[in-house]
Amino acid sequence: MFVVEEEEVSYEGNQTRSSEDWREGRRIVELDVLATGLRACLKCGLPLQLGHTIDIQTYGLGCLLKVQCFNTSCMHVNSVPTGKRHDRVWDVNSKLATALVHSGLGERQANSFLSELNIPAFSYKLVSARLREVGNVVEEVAKESTNEALEKELAAVEQKKGKLVVAVDAGWQKRGSGRAYDSKSGHCSMVGPENGKILNYSVRSKDCSVCSRAESRNESPREHACYRNWEGSSKGMEADMVIEMVKDVQSKGCRVDALVGDEDSTTIGRVPANISNSIEKISDRNHLKKILGTVFTLSKKNILF
Ligand SMILES: [Zn+2]
Ligand SMILES: [Zn+2]
Repeated sequence: MFVVEEEEVSYEGNQTRSSEDWREGRRIVELDVLATGLRACLKCGLPLQLGHTIDIQTYGLGCLLKVQCFNTSCMHVNSVPTGKRHDRVWDVNSKLATALVHSGLGERQANSFLSELNIPAFSYKLVSARLREVGNVVEEVAKESTNEALEKELAAVEQKKGKLVVAVDAGWQKRGSGRAYDSKSGHCSMVGPENGKILNYSVRSKDCSVCSRAESRNESPREHACYRNWEGSSKGMEADMVIEMVKDVQSKGCRVDALVGDEDSTTIGRVPANISNSIEKISDRNHLKKILGTVFTLSKKNILF
């Protein structure tokens, strides 16, 4: 398994180095970009051949092929990319970050997956830079999508002259039997039964890799977007998230009439004291299952790369 950083290094000359590494394993390639790159030698204009590749430079999931011109009076080594780039960043690496966010896979799991496919692994450093890049975009899309869903849910409720009933359910990053109360992070979503869409979400994390690293070195952390937003017990996360979501929905001028939760949830019981006594509490596993059955997907039009 070899790991490379995204920073491109300049390629020296066009004679000495030769590597057959490019013949090993599999790569993710944008065929159109590759075909365009092979169309003509940058110096003499004659077409290039993939088989004349003499070296490969890998940048995460993208790579540059060093293809030598077969014209003996030219011999120029052309850099042929296997995919599109924006600035100095390979699109495929930004896509990798969105794929990790979307699938919930971590760096190690994703690298195991790639290694089974015989695709070179990517480094933590590379993907964390790209996660920072896509994180804000993903959050914006999620906010837009939940606001839209809330509007639609309200319209459906109004048409029926009904009440705004929302289901809440929390999950923890650590899996295990029952509820992982020692988990370092938790997430919670609010779903509207009329349309089956997510109306709001909340995340709590006890951990932040930048802070943890600084603490282990006894240093103060550099300026960063900190993910640590919970210091209490893991058990308290769920109630806190539900309260935040209900308050947020209320701040948009909507009245939540009833909350549906898991029957063994302690959350629902805690909510009225913090927000309002008028919210009806329904603890019903079957009801919750039915409401949460619909899968939520991000709108494709919002994906940038
Ligand atoms: Zn040439
Ligand atoms: Zn932090």
